[in-house]
Amino acid sequence: MAQLTRTEFSELSAICPDGLFRDVELSALSQWRIGGKADLIVRPSSTSEVSALIRWFSERGIKPVVIGLTSNLLFDDAGLRAPCIQVGSRMARMLLKGQQVRVQAGIWVPRLARNLLKVGLSGAEHICGIPGTLGGLICMNGGSQRKGIGTHVTEVVSVDYQGNIRRRTQPECDFGYRTSIFQNNGEIIVQATLSLSRASDPLALRREMVGILASRRLKFPKHLPNCGSVFVSNPDNYEKFGPPGAVIEQLGFKGKAVGGAMVSPQHANFIVNRGGARAQEILALILEISDCALQELGLTLHSEVRYVRPDGQVVPATDVPPSALLAQ
Ligand SMILES: Cc1cc2nc3c(=O)[nH]c(=O)nc-3n(C[C@H](O)[C@H](O)[C@H](O)COP(=O)(O)OP(=O)(O)OC[C@H]3O[C@@H](n4cnc5c(N)ncnc54)[C@H](O)[C@@H]3O)c2cc1C
Repeated sequence: MAQLTRTEFSELSAICPDGLFRDVELSALSQWRIGGKADLIVRPSSTSEVSALIRWFSERGIKPVVIGLTSNLLFDDAGLRAPCIQVGSRMARMLLKGQQVRVQAGIWVPRLARNLLKVGLSGAEHICGIPGTLGGLICMNGGSQRKGIGTHVTEVVSVDYQGNIRRRTQPECDFGYRTSIFQNNGEIIVQATLSLSRASDPLALRREMVGILASRRLKFPKHLPNCGSVFVSNPDNYEKFGPPGAVIEQLGFKGKAVGGAMVSPQHANFIVNRGGARAQEILALILEISDCALQELGLTLHSEVRYVRPDGQVVPATDVPPSALLAQ
């Protein structure tokens, strides 16, 4: 997108007051601490703002990229020319109705899990340690202990490319293992309704969540920036190959580094930024690992991590062609 004119900037400011940020360093914003400058990040505070923003961009033929807390994203070293809509803490309200909760997409997932614990609702405790937004979690159908958030969703409200508000029931969201319809349709999730169960023993629920958090603290690297599991841990492959961390370790990649990017010595399905890592270095490691798994074991590893091109296209990191790396 060309630099905004003064008029365009004031039109956008009128739609989303106090929500426009120019020349944002993605290396400061992103969880991996990687990426050049984003020309424009907009942080809306309501569904109507999202809808009006999308209409404004769509009328000009511009497709913005949507992000949450970047906990599954790798930004390019060249930054982001496409405008970016970040659904975050300004859209984080929650409304309880019996065992149903209506939640805005920007809520921080650990906060959502704690709020559910406080009101004695169980079912979603597996998400308590996932450091993203609900919108990102739904898009990725994220979860832990082999579960996905999609199981608890009864409705998702999103804004489509024309700015129209769409409502989808759970089957219409096409949830699969770490996938959903939102990975391909470009819609912005603004709200979801979750259906949970009444906890028969709230203290046992609390103990379970504390246990989940403690085991994550032991297993996962926490001192160096990372993006969680790099490769999708598909239980269908467990019997033959084991989880991706074990496969990567067996292939000898644990501790392997390319520049500032390193396969975590603690958990081989994590790539950490040990200081000044570039996106190209992370991608080089990802491609090397996936090539090796295919050659040595005949196993196709799919990346959970998604790469954001400077033009705003978001693709699984394993879909980036090696020629794109050579070109840099
Ligand atoms: C330390 C660590 C541990 C992790 N552990 C887990 C885990 O146990 N299980 C797991 O599943 N994941 C895990 N993750 C990955 C990540 O936290 C989840 O996928 C998370 O839900 C992504 O949310 P986010 O807000 O950060 O999304 P982002 O990373 O910002 O975006 C991810 C994708 O969602 C899209 N998106 C984001 N918000 C919206 C929206 N409102 N509407 C439409 N699309 C949207 C983006 O375009 C992108 O394609 C972990 C990550 C880290 C860093």
